Amino acid sequence: MAINILDPKISSLIAAGEVVERPASIVKELIENAIDAGASRIIIETINGGLDQISISDNGSGIPQKEVLMAFERFSTSKVQSINDLHAIQTLGFRGEALYSIASVSQVNIITKVAANELAFQVTLNDGHLIDSSQTSYPEGTTLTISNLFDNFPARKKFLKSPKSEALKIKTLIQKFIISYPFISFKLNPQTNNSLMSNGEGDFREAISVVYGHENSNQMISIIDEIEFGNSGLALTGFIGSIFQHKSNRTHIYIYINDRIINSRALSYAFEQAYHGFMPSKKFPIGILKLRIPFEEIDVNVHPAKTEVRLVNENKVFSMLQKSVRKALYSESLVRKIDNPRSPIYFGNKKQNPSIFWPIQSQNHPTDVANDLSFGFGKLDIYETSLKRSLSQLRILGQISSTYIVCEGHDGLYLIDQHASHERVLFEDIINRNNKNDMEIQNFLDPFVLDLEESQKEFLLENMDQMISLGFVIQEFGIDSIIVRGVPKLISERKPIDTLLEIINNKSLTSIKFESVLEKSAATIACHGSVRAGDKLEMNQMEHLLVQLQLAENSNNCPHGRPTVVKFDSKAIEISFGRR
Ligand code: ADP
Ligand code: MG
Repeated sequence: MAINILDPKISSLIAAGEVVERPASIVKELIENAIDAGASRIIIETINGGLDQISISDNGSGIPQKEVLMAFERFSTSKVQSINDLHAIQTLGFRGEALYSIASVSQVNIITKVAANELAFQVTLNDGHLIDSSQTSYPEGTTLTISNLFDNFPARKKFLKSPKSEALKIKTLIQKFIISYPFISFKLNPQTNNSLMSNGEGDFREAISVVYGHENSNQMISIIDEIEFGNSGLALTGFIGSIFQHKSNRTHIYIYINDRIINSRALSYAFEQAYHGFMPSKKFPIGILKLRIPFEEIDVNVHPAKTEVRLVNENKVFSMLQKSVRKALYSESLVRKIDNPRSPIYFGNKKQNPSIFWPIQSQNHPTDVANDLSFGFGKLDIYETSLKRSLSQLRILGQISSTYIVCEGHDGLYLIDQHASHERVLFEDIINRNNKNDMEIQNFLDPFVLDLEESQKEFLLENMDQMISLGFVIQEFGIDSIIVRGVPKLISERKPIDTLLEIINNKSLTSIKFESVLEKSAATIACHGSVRAGDKLEMNQMEHLLVQLQLAENSNNCPHGRPTVVKFDSKAIEISFGRR
């Protein structure tokens, strides 16, 4: 379709709105244009979070020279010509407002070339006024460069955030595009060390791993489902988090309808509900869900930023989504959980022995965890009281990978993490003993002198009493050292000075916030004092640990928040084997 100016009757039908709010909204519009132009490679470069410059290059179809200026006029679009077109929109843009709006508040340079022309056409506009145009040589596609954003609109400049925060908004946006379009290669600031790049080879899981890291994306469950709907069908594809990959908010639920990311409380809620009973309360699943819905079943033209849709049959979509997710969770969750050999903090370098109960799964040991997106750990629907009851009825079957105790319970199979459980038991013991001033101490024959750095000294100055009450027999020694005469008995055979150092360095790998320095230190001592993953346990040791865990006040988590017990519900096992 050639570019034409929309009939006012049509343009007034189209929801108007400000498209240019901040650099990220410009980037969004320009990327959508590039996608609409059929680009397979899009490069985004920004200076100063886009506040100084945004440049977007694509290898799409380009704009014919005689249409370039028209593209910057209001309501000029090549995507809609008649009212009928509005009902079956397949492109991302269609309001013909983006280039117009962007050009009216900045300086824009466009270089664009179509296949049919020998040369590219280059135009510069400032606040909407043409200041330069010429022909030039350039590869097929379009590059738009935006600078001086809001320079003549100080009121709007005020609403911009810091370059850092604008840059983050752009990055988050590109992450969404990467997930949405695995067949397009996106490169954000490729020349910098803060780049984000996808290969565009079409592998959905690969695209997800760019955003979430390999480890997380490998744990996600693939989902593919389709039902009859409207004239064609309703299809759902995507990747959803396992029940262990949860977050404390909804920001990692992405829902797409026909490749467009949308905000839908209803669908997001349907997704969350599918995890009901699988997750601790106040936790939210993660997922990337792509729905393909017949165009006549939706009306995208509700919101100016096109992020909301009105569905003709919302309930049907809602229930399909929920059922598919539930099905995927049931059928995959068992396998996923077994293939989940992670905990960088405790089992990091240990090679695990193959399981005697299950065939060896491909063991991924990914190194790349997107730190700002790293997932929390969770557990099945085990609640404290019922867990305690269940623990008392378990029959121990054995130990696997020298790490987990395997048990049969009346309602399913239980795996108990020996380290996490022991850590919990010791932690509570230390806190209790500390309260009663009853820590067992091992005195050294030869006292040990420890030289301290400034920050370590500061920590000790503040917390000397706590360290002593936890069982460290320490005294100041000169200005830069302490003398250690004894340590908690619990760790006396386990490099106790390292434990002490870990405590006074006051840096910990855990994200859990402890109530006090005392609790945090107790957790460190418990961690160092407990059985490790990889330690072989005798039957009586396992029995003993289980009893202690059952007696613990809070038996379902280690002090760092990891689960101690994972249950494989009998029903889920039956479903997995097709018995139900
Ligand atoms: P809309 O995308 O809603 O049609 P825009 O103002 O974003 O409106 O763009 C106006 C027109 O300019 C588009 O319809 C399209 O024909 C053309 N256009 C914009 N960007 C590109 C691009 N990167 N490649 C090819 N054509 C483009
Ligand atoms: Mg557009």
